[in-house]
Amino acid sequence: MAMDAIDQVVMNSRLHYLGMAARVIEPLMKLAVLTCMDARIDVAALLGLRPGDAHVIRNAGGRASVDAVRCLAISQAILGTREVMILHHTDCAMGRFTESDLAQRIATATGHSFAEGFGCFADPIDAVLEDVERIRAFEGLSHRDKVRGFVYDLAGNALTEIRRPSTPRH
Ligand SMILES: [Zn+2]
Repeated sequence: MAMDAIDQVVMNSRLHYLGMAARVIEPLMKLAVLTCMDARIDVAALLGLRPGDAHVIRNAGGRASVDAVRCLAISQAILGTREVMILHHTDCAMGRFTESDLAQRIATATGHSFAEGFGCFADPIDAVLEDVERIRAFEGLSHRDKVRGFVYDLAGNALTEIRRPSTPRH
């Protein structure tokens, strides 16, 4: 009989993880990472993070949703983080579907209509820039000077910072 995934991760934690947990609640690097829930992204391995180093907030697409910015507000005001890294990636499911596609699929699968704002996007670069701007504009954060956006290229295993093209000087 196949083991449930939850049983498997509980067993993994007993074998490998318990005892490594950091003792300090405030992230040592004063960093919060907002990224996608995509199972292919191993955030800790990719960024070299160890337990206790950073907050990692994940959702579908790594979008600056209402819930994500609420987490960031808590992260900064209560737990002392100062920098926000937004980490999107290539081949993201949220870039392959439209809002209405997703609503339709969920309705078909469940028999219930469910039309939330899912955070779908047409262009991954635009999505990163939009999330950087949204977080920089969010007044619930006291530290908005170090909000930076990146795209992780899964195929190339490369991390690229996305910057808004600077206005040409005249
Ligand atoms: Zn994704």
